[in-house]
Amino acid sequence: KLYNQVQDLKGNIRVYCRVRPCHHNQTSVGNIDEGSISLIIPSKNGKDGKKTFTFNRCFGPNVTQAEVFADTQPLIRSVLDGYNVCIFAYGQTGSGKTHTMSGPNNPTEETVGVNYRALRDLFLISEQRKDTIHYDIRVQMLEIYNETVRDLLSTDGVQKRYPFSVLTSLFFSLFCVSLNGINVPDANLVPVQSTADVLSLMDLGFKNRAVSATAMNDRSSRSHSCLTVHVHGKDLTSGKTIRGSIHLVDLAGSERVDKSEVTGDRLKEAQHINKSLAALGDVISSLAQKQQHIPYRNSKLTQLLQDSLGGQAKTLMFVHIAPEQDALVESISTLKFAERVS
Ligand code: ADP
Ligand code: MG
Repeated sequence: KLYNQVQDLKGNIRVYCRVRPCHHNQTSVGNIDEGSISLIIPSKNGKDGKKTFTFNRCFGPNVTQAEVFADTQPLIRSVLDGYNVCIFAYGQTGSGKTHTMSGPNNPTEETVGVNYRALRDLFLISEQRKDTIHYDIRVQMLEIYNETVRDLLSTDGVQKRYPFSVLTSLFFSLFCVSLNGINVPDANLVPVQSTADVLSLMDLGFKNRAVSATAMNDRSSRSHSCLTVHVHGKDLTSGKTIRGSIHLVDLAGSERVDKSEVTGDRLKEAQHINKSLAALGDVISSLAQKQQHIPYRNSKLTQLLQDSLGGQAKTLMFVHIAPEQDALVESISTLKFAERVS
């Protein structure tokens, strides 16, 4: 119900804020309720200030993965009705982006994140509809690092890790042309039958991502990763086809690096991240303001997602807050970004 009201009011862009548990008791976060969050701004004269931000939903530190997903679920259903959906996780490194999207390391049934739950729903609903619509579901995993796109499901050098069913799927996917949404020539688009198939692919994707992480520690926080699910449905009576897609994007850390302290590769990375996050913010805020010109061309990320941002497409941005006081400057900048796009 909340979702429908929100959609009527806001069109197709929603922003949810999530605050993770505090690692120590020096918190900068004040009150959190359903739709707003306040930050406590310390001042020298002892009279702390307060700044309140409002969003479609705010989730405090005790909100479970299942509760977060409950508000996301209607978007998943709409993918099977032919919509393109983008879900982004934004925030500084350590604020909980990966926790929201994938869950912690070795997640349990309770702690798995949005992407697993989304896939599970897609399979569940397609099964419920199987007497009327036949759905073909395919998965792609990409990484954008320094404005270069890499296929995380590339089989180069990692064939041995594929289970047989995935290998045959990959073989057939070689003959596939790209569906709507992300259009990366040669990127593998792998047919999947179950969440188990997807989990083994995600595993491969994470391993592929980790290959480069050894050279530059924790590359995952400095690249965007995008899990895309393409859905192609065929109505068994009318023969009509339905195409929908969902992009689940774990963005690079939004923290600003001090230009005086970093040089070389690290500075280049930081500049690419700043540029692409700013470009994403520009695209979403110009969509929210219903502007004529939408600046998709300013980054690889927005180019790739162009077909899934704007028009009938639905966008959900999760912005993540690390509640510790020493993260305050980043928290303010995150919430300002979020306000701009909502
Ligand atoms: P990011 O991907 O933004 O760098 P992570 O998702 O890795 O951040 O989160 C940092 C740490 O905080 C991880 O150990 C993660 O498991 C934990 N964490 C994040 N969000 C939550 C949450 N909502 N509840 C419990 N632990 C969380
Ligand atoms: Mg992460």
